[in-house]
Amino acid sequence: MSWFLTTYRNAVRQRYGWNVTLTCMKCASTNMPRYEGASPNNEMNAGDDVIIYARLACPQCKKRLIDEAGNKLVELFRDVSIPEKNARIIRDFIASLIMVPLTLAFTLFIGMRMGWWGNNAFALLVASSGLIPLLVMLMRYRVALLRSRCSCGKPDYVIMGLLNNIACYHCASCGKLLPLRD
Ligand SMILES: [Zn+2]
Ligand SMILES: [Zn+2]
Repeated sequence: MSWFLTTYRNAVRQRYGWNVTLTCMKCASTNMPRYEGASPNNEMNAGDDVIIYARLACPQCKKRLIDEAGNKLVELFRDVSIPEKNARIIRDFIASLIMVPLTLAFTLFIGMRMGWWGNNAFALLVASSGLIPLLVMLMRYRVALLRSRCSCGKPDYVIMGLLNNIACYHCASCGKLLPLRD
């Protein structure tokens, strides 16, 4: 079980970062911003629902680049849709959320009619409540695997932020953009 949890945590772990140039609204210079660590920031006026994780500053005039980063994230990811594999994982997950309780209810019903279990039925019901978090973990694990590969052969995905609840990843090796929903 602990092996399972370690594998899961390693797979879903995020690496924060920013590897895209920004144009400072104050001094108008375009540079790779200075990266000062990560903390969620949703103060920008980008119009969409945007959260930026990188704390960025202009290397020329030291201005904090909050709106600049928010606008850039929208500009980069607005027209990029999540991969078909990601959409399929979400569909599988929703189907499993419906099928698992249905199958269980059916099994319980048949089991009680056939006299397979008496009081055990309740225990089975309690055990099944643990299945939902497991389904969520499985879904998030499968989504996380999508960013463990890249067409460049050196996958190095950092998360730049969230755009309308879609995680925006950027391959630090090749610059590929990868929006993922989980
Ligand atoms: Zn500046
Ligand atoms: Zn890549």
